[in-house]
Amino acid sequence: MKNHTQPKSPLIGISATLLTIESGSLMGRERVAVGYDYIEAIRLAGGIPIVLPIVEGKEFIQQQMQLVDALLLSGGYDVSPLFYDEEPKRGLEAICTDRDLYEIQLLQVARETHKPIFGICRGIQLLNVALGGTLYQDIGMALPAALQHSQKAKPEEATHTVALVPCTRLHRIMEEDLILTNSLHHQAIKDLAPGLIANAYTKDGLIEGVEGESDLFILGVQWHPELMCGKHPKMLKLFHALIEAARQRSKT
Ligand code: MN
Repeated sequence: MKNHTQPKSPLIGISATLLTIESGSLMGRERVAVGYDYIEAIRLAGGIPIVLPIVEGKEFIQQQMQLVDALLLSGGYDVSPLFYDEEPKRGLEAICTDRDLYEIQLLQVARETHKPIFGICRGIQLLNVALGGTLYQDIGMALPAALQHSQKAKPEEATHTVALVPCTRLHRIMEEDLILTNSLHHQAIKDLAPGLIANAYTKDGLIEGVEGESDLFILGVQWHPELMCGKHPKMLKLFHALIEAARQRSKT
């Protein structure tokens, strides 16, 4: 009988966060965590989710990245403003410098090895900061006239419109000029990093998406598509695009 070998599914590394245990005998110790919705979105889009725990040391990070075909930078804490030469302002929320340092190196290794990169929420912010851009530390404080970006609706609800810039990678993926997204962020991109272009905006002029200028797959979105996939299946297109880019890269 002929041996049908299945094409190998790409391995998608998802950067994890640290959660401090708040009660019980391990109170104060830390756990590695990734929101389950990321895992499920990658699985539904045909990838193999791999959780990447925060480790110290470039050689460890290089070997972690060798194991995976693409990188998904997940959401979470604010990025420390020290990484974009600002002191913390009122309105800044919790930060985790160990995670910042880890993800900046992880991103650097992914870029050096031409692996597709997708940043979500904090992920787009981290991407922008790591490449030399800056953030609004708190949208409400910096831009009182901005829309509500920390929605009170359920996480899977779409609450604001996002206009996609024609002829961008994001526009090609979503195949629409205007989409509806959730909004669960209190920070946003201020100065765009060199090498990135904005591909999505809300009506208040804030950047909701970025991508790399080059052909390498570097994409970031400010909303949380992984939380929307159940109710809004077209959000899976973003994960399909990442996985397809990973598949193409691993062929070469
Ligand atoms: Mn928003």
